[in-house]
Amino acid sequence: MMRTTSKTFDFVVIGAGCFGAWTAHELLHAGHRVLLLDAFGPAHSRASSGGESRVIRMGYGPDELYTRWSQRSLVAWKALAERAQRPLFRECGMLWLAGPGGDYVEATQRTLARVGVAHERWSTATLIDRFPQISTEAIDWALWEPGSGVLMARQSVQALVAEDVRAGLEYRTAAVASPESAATSTAQRAGKLDRIVTNAGDEISAAGFVFACGAWLPKVFPALLGARIFPTRQEIFFFAPPAGDASFARLPAWFHHPALVYGIPDLEQRGFKISVDRHGAAIDPDREDRVPTAEGLAAARAYLALRFPKLRDAPLAESRVCQYENTANGDFIIDRHPEFDNLFITGGGSGHGFKHGPAVGEYTSRLATTGIGDEPRFALASKATTQRRGVF
Ligand SMILES: Cc1cc2nc3c(=O)[nH]c(=O)nc-3n(C[C@H](O)[C@H](O)[C@H](O)COP(=O)(O)OP(=O)(O)OC[C@H]3O[C@@H](n4cnc5c(N)ncnc54)[C@H](O)[C@@H]3O)c2cc1C
Repeated sequence: MMRTTSKTFDFVVIGAGCFGAWTAHELLHAGHRVLLLDAFGPAHSRASSGGESRVIRMGYGPDELYTRWSQRSLVAWKALAERAQRPLFRECGMLWLAGPGGDYVEATQRTLARVGVAHERWSTATLIDRFPQISTEAIDWALWEPGSGVLMARQSVQALVAEDVRAGLEYRTAAVASPESAATSTAQRAGKLDRIVTNAGDEISAAGFVFACGAWLPKVFPALLGARIFPTRQEIFFFAPPAGDASFARLPAWFHHPALVYGIPDLEQRGFKISVDRHGAAIDPDREDRVPTAEGLAAARAYLALRFPKLRDAPLAESRVCQYENTANGDFIIDRHPEFDNLFITGGGSGHGFKHGPAVGEYTSRLATTGIGDEPRFALASKATTQRRGVF
């Protein structure tokens, strides 16, 4: 039996990951009555935003758009950390390790210079001097972003939602049926979605709806996004540093191009994190056990032995299996649904979206409240059905 919620909302945001939480934050602070829903809870363990830590870097090769969005977003992340009085952002710096064929890092340096981001170009001698834990084998030079670092991902999203609940946001745990499904077909009227329906049978009305469902978006909108978002399985490993050695907590975030391997220092004693940024196999976010493969572990160990010789025999402390929700080229989707004037979709973080949460929230909120959203790269119309990665 359907139950209709008597409360009225201006907006319902579905999905309390990084994108949904920042969108709800912006809508709330623009004066709207906002309900935030999630099937499992803010930044839960299988959400893309549910990891321990995420890199925030300014560099994006030649891509100025994401460099500028990182810059703007970092201001908002720092302000959140300040308000929460918690070390949610760790300013440990970001180190680009450029191997042979490292044109991408050259392009990154040019963009940082153009946009005015503080950076330094290091020789391998400087690299050894600054971070003797790192082997320079197959590294030609390094690019240093001193103001970048790491966001404590799960903690940050949960802190944001908790802060906004205190400020008047309503949060509920509920799974929402697809607006493309029979359950909601009666809720559609002349190009508008009147209400959503939860799996507990609640009907919730609002003037506008934002779906920020991460890797679940292809399930929520199978006809529209089933062929346009490609969730992939990604494995992350945390290795235990040697006893009595705190030097692996004092490293920066790092990214090796063109090897596409990255890592995060030993924060909160969870272990030294390492992962390969290449897309893994296709994943159904609801069904798979989160157990890493033996091949993934072997690849991480091999890289660790090469780059961080003191960790050659480090035991694995923890692992995670998460998912990227890739668009064809890595650009986000932030757009209005083609059939419903008051339904907006925000997602496609594609393995690099976390840092941009504040800018995504601003853009989505502006689109939902004023209709202004003029970046063609985020438009649904630009989303291809064949993968060709362009954003790293
Ligand atoms: C291993 C890994 C490493 C990464 N590293 C970085 C990094 O270093 N730097 C960086 O910037 N980015 C990184 N990213 C990318 C970043 O984490 C994601 O782009 C970002 O978290 C996406 O957030 P989201 O809110 O779109 O999705 P999610 O966090 O997945 O949130 C979507 C939410 O929607 C909810 N939901 C779905 N369907 C429904 C429904 N029907 N009803 C109710 N709720 C629903 C889900 O439960 C979920 O909580 C990484 C991602 C992964 C997986």
